[in-house]
Order: sequence, then structure tokens, then C-alpha cells
Amino acid sequence: MENKITGINGPITGWLDGHTYLIGLMAYPIRHSMSPTMHNNAFAKLGLNYAYLCFEVGNDKLEGAVNAIRTLDMRGSNVSMPNKKEVIKYLDKLSPASKMCDAVNTIVNDNGVLTGYTTDGIGFVQALKDENISVKDKVMTLTGAGGAATPIAVQSALDGVKEIRIFNIKDNKWPQAEKNVKTIRENTDCKVSLTDLADKDAFKKSIAESDIYCDATGVGMKPLEDMTLVEDPSWFHKDMVVFDTVYAPRTTKLMKVAQKAGVEHVFNGIGMMIEQGAAAFKLWTGKDMPTDYIRQIMF
Ligand code: NAD
Repeated sequence: MENKITGINGPITGWLDGHTYLIGLMAYPIRHSMSPTMHNNAFAKLGLNYAYLCFEVGNDKLEGAVNAIRTLDMRGSNVSMPNKKEVIKYLDKLSPASKMCDAVNTIVNDNGVLTGYTTDGIGFVQALKDENISVKDKVMTLTGAGGAATPIAVQSALDGVKEIRIFNIKDNKWPQAEKNVKTIRENTDCKVSLTDLADKDAFKKSIAESDIYCDATGVGMKPLEDMTLVEDPSWFHKDMVVFDTVYAPRTTKLMKVAQKAGVEHVFNGIGMMIEQGAAAFKLWTGKDMPTDYIRQIMF
């Protein structure tokens, strides 16, 4: 009998062999993630001998898992909940944005030295750049202060946004919102404020004065898919950007309200998701992810 390992389209050569670089994704739960499909297809498209695998790792097994990056000489890993903050104490260095966010979603292993990065904010800024929109000198209203909103605020401030007006509900993320304001003030020239989202007049006025409104709360996604923080199209103006970090559904209720208002630049979170992956891909491989191809085959 023939003893030959075959791939979907024939024998596997130059891929998944003794030279393959391994990239992980350490989170719990994580089997639902789209990242393995995105990265492995990008590696295959560029003929890069890398493999990306999910590892179901929570806080309890994180130290061993991070040490395994060094021991097994993995090229790096993504990190998601519940490990984004917890992982910091096991790393050697942090990027400036990671330090400011106090969170990591990407680890790069350079000869045993592990550096933590956060690429979600880069993903947000790049998704806008892809549409020929720069955040520089813009006024942005941002709802949220969690895992998505924090890097969005930090990276936008680092990339020259003029002012960020953060609105959040008074829940357990309020202290993080206060921390984001303090960190941005201490590290950048960006003007930043925090207001209770319950103050609807201030929220409405802020959106009216903004170039960009970004909702990073997850309102509009299951189980809140019939909800939006802005219900009245008259709050928006046509020449602004309305950006929802939600990527399922593709068109959220917020986006429909913005479209009804005639807003020209209305985006969901797919561009941000692809670009945060592309930023990590570049850190690991030094190559540009073929983002058009990934968008075409996955979304
Ligand atoms: P999170 O739980 O860390 O933060 C949620 C934020 O929304 C908090 O500030 C919270 O106070 C606020 N919030 C919660 N319920 C609210 C409500 N009913 N009204 C107003 N504010 C409310 O969540 P996260 O990880 O930041 O994710 C937020 C959204 O961003 C999700 O939809 C997620 O899928 C999306 N996301 C997208 C990307 C991307 O690449 N596109 C990346 C990360 C997260």
C-alpha cells in the first residue's frame, strides 16, 4: 500500500513539515474562532511554512502555555479572553499600546524573548485607512471601554486623533473607562473626556460635533441585535463616519439608522477584524497578509 500523506489537493510539500513555524491562539473557550481559518489561508496563499492552531487555555494553564512558546520555539501566539491581561506577567516586553491598554492579544517570540502587542486598535485605524479615512486631527465619540474600545481609543490617540469623547454606562467597565482617560492624557496630546451614557443630551451633542462615531459596546450583536444606542437618524450628519465593531450581523441596527440618515461612511467590524489579524501576521512573518483574498474567501 502506498504510504503518502496527502492534503486536500494532493501531497503536502513545503508545508507542515519539520521546518514549520507554529503560531498559537490561547483562550478559553476558543474553538469558534475564525482566526485559524484566516491565518492558515493567508499562509497557504503566500506559501509560508507556518501553522496556526487553537489551544484551549484559561488562566490556570496560561503560565505553562506561555513558557511552551519559548520551550517549543513557537513563533508566537494570539491571546484572547480570559488571558489578555493575565498574560502580561509572563512576558518580557510590551509594545507602547499594550502597556497603555494593559492588555495583549499578540505575542512574538524573538529567540526566547516574548513581546506582547495589541493589534485591535491598529485594526480599527487600518480599516479606516483602507477606506481612505485618516483618524488624524479628527473628533471621535466612542461608546465602550472594554476589550475592543480600549485599544481603539489608545491607538487612535497614538495615531493623532484630536479628541476622544468616551461614553459608557455605569457598569463594571466604568473604572476601565476612567483608566483609559488617565492613560491617554498621560501619554498623548489627545484631548479626552468620559461621560455617563445616561446623559443623552451630551451624547447627542457629542455625536453632532464628531467626525467619527464608533460603537464598541457589542450592542447590536446577539443577544442585543435589535438594539442600538442611537435610534434617531437625525443625530448623525452625512459627512461623518459611523463604525460598529460588531461583525455579526453584517448590518447592525446602528448601521441601518446611520444609512437611513444618509451617512456615507458606515462600517461593520469585519475590516477591523481582518486588519487586526493582518497586523499580527506581519509581526510574525514580516509579510503583508493578502487581506483582499481573505475577505473574498471568508466574508
Ligand atoms: P467588553 O465586554 O469588554 O466591553 C463591552 C463594553 O460595552 C463595556 O464598556 C460595557 O460597559 C459596554 N456595554 C455593555 N452593555 C452595554 C449596554 N447595554 N449599553 C451600553 N453599553 C454597554 O466587550 P468587547 O470585547 O470590548 O467587545 C465589544 C464588541 O466589539 C463585541 O461586539 C465584539 O464582538 C466586538 N469586537 C470586534 C472586534 C473586531 O475586530 N471587529 C474585536 C474585538 C471585539
